[in-house]
Amino acid sequence: MGWENNVRRVVPYVPGEQPKKADVIKLNTNENPYPPSLEAEKAAASMSTDELRLYPDPSAESLVRAIAGCYGLKENEVFVGVGSDDVLAMCFMTFFNSGKPIVFPDITYSFYDVWADLLRIPYKTPPLTEDFRINPADYRGENGGIVFPNPNAPTGSFLPMESVEEIVAANRESVVIVDEAYVDFGAESALPLIRKYDNLIVVQTFSKSRSMAGLRIGYAMADEKLIRYLNDVKYSFNSYTLNRPSILIGTAEMNSREHFKECCARIAKTREASAARFRGLGFSLTDSCANFLFVTHPDKTAKEIFDYLKENRIYVRWFDKPRIRNYLRVTIGTDQEMDRLFACLSELF
Ligand SMILES: *Cc1c(COP(=O)(O)O)cnc(C)c1O
Repeated sequence: MGWENNVRRVVPYVPGEQPKKADVIKLNTNENPYPPSLEAEKAAASMSTDELRLYPDPSAESLVRAIAGCYGLKENEVFVGVGSDDVLAMCFMTFFNSGKPIVFPDITYSFYDVWADLLRIPYKTPPLTEDFRINPADYRGENGGIVFPNPNAPTGSFLPMESVEEIVAANRESVVIVDEAYVDFGAESALPLIRKYDNLIVVQTFSKSRSMAGLRIGYAMADEKLIRYLNDVKYSFNSYTLNRPSILIGTAEMNSREHFKECCARIAKTREASAARFRGLGFSLTDSCANFLFVTHPDKTAKEIFDYLKENRIYVRWFDKPRIRNYLRVTIGTDQEMDRLFACLSELF
């Protein structure tokens, strides 16, 4: 059909399942098992629906100020968006326009190739090492930009800061995005490097460590020039990205630091205990610094285990992709949820 030749065709990203059934244990999308802070709850309760008549603040100033305050940055070094997915997509659109291939690992967040295809950005995907690590040597030479999560997803592996710096330093002609969706669960942030490198963007999110996947807030931190270019593109696309509830509740959450740290520490502790329990059942796993574990078993395929758990109303994530088809990504839940998971797995093995 005539018009169909002119469709921007894309193979969309497939998000993890959000089951409607009650009484499921949901360990498939790396949400936080603990609620946000009391301050966030109070902010939510203080909202009146009458406020919704009005557009939100297009600059989300209170939220930007809270983020800048939390990380010791200037307000013009912070960009906010509708989840880090929105922030990352804006970064791709703003910075990856050279026509040269951008570079990201073969096994990584499965949205990168979707945005690249959508925006017609060519890309190269150097393979992770056998033990699923990024080799910095693969990120040298001419390119149109670089993006990788640290810790990586869905492996959980952390690239040490010297290696991150090596990649940023070797690519002063391109923008390097470090996607730190999981950094708060025990990894080191590249944020201090933004003072030294004006080609580095650090992206973080409220969805995992800050218990607010439902609100959709993400942010980028970088040299003010990069942030200015990001805002130019944002205001050319959709000026009112963050809604009123997000700005209000997100600001309150960012300003309450203790609760968030406690929850992250609790999750890291449950992760270490769960890793030991997986090993006890014969699983192998990568070293994870994130709020999930990436596990495989020699006796049963990942798909079999995935189906068995689902029948028992426990949802984990399985990616039907080369190299990782025999792995499961299991989000760290509460201790009680993990007890139910291991009770169920013990019956299988
Ligand atoms: C979850 C995730 C994101 C996106 O999170 P938002 O909910 O859009 O903030 C980005 N990158 C990675 C690696 C993730 O795992």
